[in-house]
Amino acid sequence: MENRDFSPRREMVKGNWTCAGCGASITELPFEPDGERPLYCRDCHRQRMANRPRRF
Ligand SMILES: [Zn+2]
Repeated sequence: MENRDFSPRREMVKGNWTCAGCGASITELPFEPDGERPLYCRDCHRQRMANRPRRF
């Protein structure tokens, strides 16, 4: 019997950052921040993705 998990296990990077959008504290990220790009919390990231025009 295989032990399969439906949620893919990502490596979360623990830390203490601040969301560049709303100022919320971010304690873990699914990627290693490079220190140059602004970081966004899950909500802001989602909004940015939604607001991004696709057809231009
Ligand atoms: Zn935010």
